Amino acid sequence: MSKPQQPVHCELPYFPVADKQLQIGGHSVEQLAQRLGNTPFYAYDRAVIDQRIRALRTLLADSIRLHYAVKANPMPDLLQHVAQQVDGLDIASQGELALALQTDTDPQHISFTGPGKGEAELQAAIDAGVTLNIESATEMRRIAGLTSSRGIPPRVTVRINPDFELKSSGMRMGGGATPFGIDVEQVPALLKELADLGLEFWGFHIFAGSQNLRADAIIEAQNATLALAIRLAEHAPSPVRLLNMGGGFGIPYFPGEQPLDVKLIGENLTRLVEQAKTALPDAELALELGRYLVGEAGVYVCRVLDKKVSRGQVFLVTDGGLHQHLAASGNFGQVIRKNYPVVIGNKMGGDETEVVNIVGRLCTPLDLLASKMELPVTELGDLVVILQSGAYGLTTSPTAFLGHPAPMEILL
Ligand SMILES: *Cc1c(COP(=O)(O)O)cnc(C)c1O
Repeated sequence: MSKPQQPVHCELPYFPVADKQLQIGGHSVEQLAQRLGNTPFYAYDRAVIDQRIRALRTLLADSIRLHYAVKANPMPDLLQHVAQQVDGLDIASQGELALALQTDTDPQHISFTGPGKGEAELQAAIDAGVTLNIESATEMRRIAGLTSSRGIPPRVTVRINPDFELKSSGMRMGGGATPFGIDVEQVPALLKELADLGLEFWGFHIFAGSQNLRADAIIEAQNATLALAIRLAEHAPSPVRLLNMGGGFGIPYFPGEQPLDVKLIGENLTRLVEQAKTALPDAELALELGRYLVGEAGVYVCRVLDKKVSRGQVFLVTDGGLHQHLAASGNFGQVIRKNYPVVIGNKMGGDETEVVNIVGRLCTPLDLLASKMELPVTELGDLVVILQSGAYGLTTSPTAFLGHPAPMEILL
């Protein structure tokens, strides 16, 4: 049998333990299960989100705008809570537009990004006064062909596919050939047409990658981003007002991964703010983060329904599974499957352990939540808790697959 994988956060920095029970937002996971009347569920702890945002702000120059990428976790209560603490929201659909407009965020500080925006959703966004992030020349012309009920031209930013990439990213979003943004070589001509079309140019957006844990790689990409924006500004019809530098800040999931050193990134951004003051004097710099703000604040909880032994291996069969937490099963873009950090929420620190596989109840071997993990000895009814589940959890999962009811979500 291969060596069991240990949870990353053995000391659980965010969630305390009392009486061997993992506590989320002041309640044990068993109490939460009772309160919700069922498992599985996702629970998000607002105190952990607040702590993360506060800590981040202390490391960033005051002038840096902090935006939240709604797709990381669009749960309405959570979005309301996060929106109160950030300077803007990034949305990717009309559905996310509706959610964002339910917050107090000024529509000008909502930016609509993503390839293939349709006419109806563009029209809704224009009428609401949100900033449109252009992904192609076709999209720019489509926007110009719509009329605004507001009597003013739509405000647009141009998303650039840069000629560099963010190294060691979990997910690369720019650099080579990609459906995202406009190749840097094509941008000067596009900017000329943009002016002729009468759209209000507001700035640039450059997002090079996601889930990065290396500060040096992020710093290199941010330096290149500012340099590129300065170069392209010469072709812009009006001064750059906003430079959205994307995000890419990762969180540790797997054994051996270390948290991102945001202090180094903050120090470098302070230098970039100074540089921008002379080179792009009208521009504000923005970061747009999803996972980093909310990923560590959430857990997914499911219950052990069956425990069986097959050819010497123990299987815990839970009422959860990949249909509710695709990423934990390793099927959301991961190249090699690794275990998310998992604990038994009602048996914290149990000293008698065993090596188990934790599965869901779907009829596919892909439905694996933990492989050969050493955990406290479990009984039927115990609560399996998957940590680091606050971002790209429920909404990235195929909940319709096999027809089980959707899990609940609660913000504490
Ligand atoms: C998904 C996305 C983000 C957020 O990415 P994280 O890795 O969650 O921080 C930011 N900007 C754009 C354009 C995105 O598509």
